[in-house]
Amino acid sequence: MQLSKDCLDCAFVNGSELCYEVFVAYNCYKLFFSKECRDCTDSYFLQDCVGCSNCYGCVGLRNKNYHIFNQPYSKEEYSKILAEKKEQIKEGDIEVLKKEFKEFALKQINKYAYIQKSVRSTGNYLLNTKNCVSCFHGDDAENCKYGYHVWRNSKDNMDVCTAGRDVELAYESINIGIKGYNIKFGIQNWNGNSDLTYCEGCSGSSNLFGCLALNKKQYCILNKQYSKEEYEALVPKIIEHMKETGEYGEFFPSKISQFAYNETVAQDHFPLSKEEALSKGYVWKDEEEKNVTIGGDIFGCAHKGKCDDHCTVGFKIIQAEKDFYDKMGLPVPTLCPNCRHYERLRQRNPLKLWHRKCMKLGCINEFETSYAPDRPEIIYCEQCYNNEVV
Ligand SMILES: [Zn+2]
Ligand SMILES: [Zn+2]
Ligand SMILES: [Zn+2]
Repeated sequence: MQLSKDCLDCAFVNGSELCYEVFVAYNCYKLFFSKECRDCTDSYFLQDCVGCSNCYGCVGLRNKNYHIFNQPYSKEEYSKILAEKKEQIKEGDIEVLKKEFKEFALKQINKYAYIQKSVRSTGNYLLNTKNCVSCFHGDDAENCKYGYHVWRNSKDNMDVCTAGRDVELAYESINIGIKGYNIKFGIQNWNGNSDLTYCEGCSGSSNLFGCLALNKKQYCILNKQYSKEEYEALVPKIIEHMKETGEYGEFFPSKISQFAYNETVAQDHFPLSKEEALSKGYVWKDEEEKNVTIGGDIFGCAHKGKCDDHCTVGFKIIQAEKDFYDKMGLPVPTLCPNCRHYERLRQRNPLKLWHRKCMKLGCINEFETSYAPDRPEIIYCEQCYNNEVV
């Protein structure tokens, strides 16, 4: 979520306001149960729409209003049907409406990837990118490779998970933001760092090696202060030694992680079973028994802990949430926040690419797509897709 306001249960929503259950959107206002949209307002169940307002259940529309399931209606007819739909939403029939939309969307044509206003870029969920290869979730990024969430002036970064807001030359790092330069094997280094190697939680610093949580420091190794000359003489020796032991050049090993595999976002993006995780040498944390008394302030999750989504069984709703649901005409959710999170992630294509051909008869174009070959969707190349969208 970047530059957004009053949005609930959304992911990768940017510059938007008053949205609910939206996945990947830019500049949207009062958009509900939708994904992959730009500049859309007052709409429900949209997918891959741009510049639409007052639409319900539409896929691949451009600059339209008063459309339902891609068909035009008069303002009066639309308002009448929408009022019924909104009543259904309020009464909690969302699953029925979701299913109805899903079935409609499945019959529509999809572009091989959600890549917009971009040049020479592969991956998915990209906007305003240039020369980005195998990147997923990126906007305003340039020359990035294997990037997950590269955004807001992210440049020349590789093998990164979240690197943005003026970050350049980050490599094998996670969560690097706000003016970072030349950061290798880093974790959560924010606010004006440069030339950091194997550092975590540092800010406003430069020339650090193996340091933890330093602020405004220079020339430190393992948090110990050195002179510039000492630092420059020592670091190459350490790197040389680490190369001999085979430690240099890779991210921190998983065995020193403070978290089990299934407690980290790795499980969100690359889910493994307990057996798979253990066989790869990762630590696994078994779910603890939860004794939750439902009632009063505590709502029960419809999954009742019987799923693999870290279900919290019971959950609370704060006043601001209640106000939001009332104001937007939405029912209180039936799933706990964790289950909602995983339901949302399941809408996303995998962070993986397959080489495929355009499905339009007679077209010979090929592309890299996150739609696996055995999926039921109709997948077109950009050219064929653009000929279809109206
Ligand atoms: Zn749950
Ligand atoms: Zn669940
Ligand atoms: Zn084609």
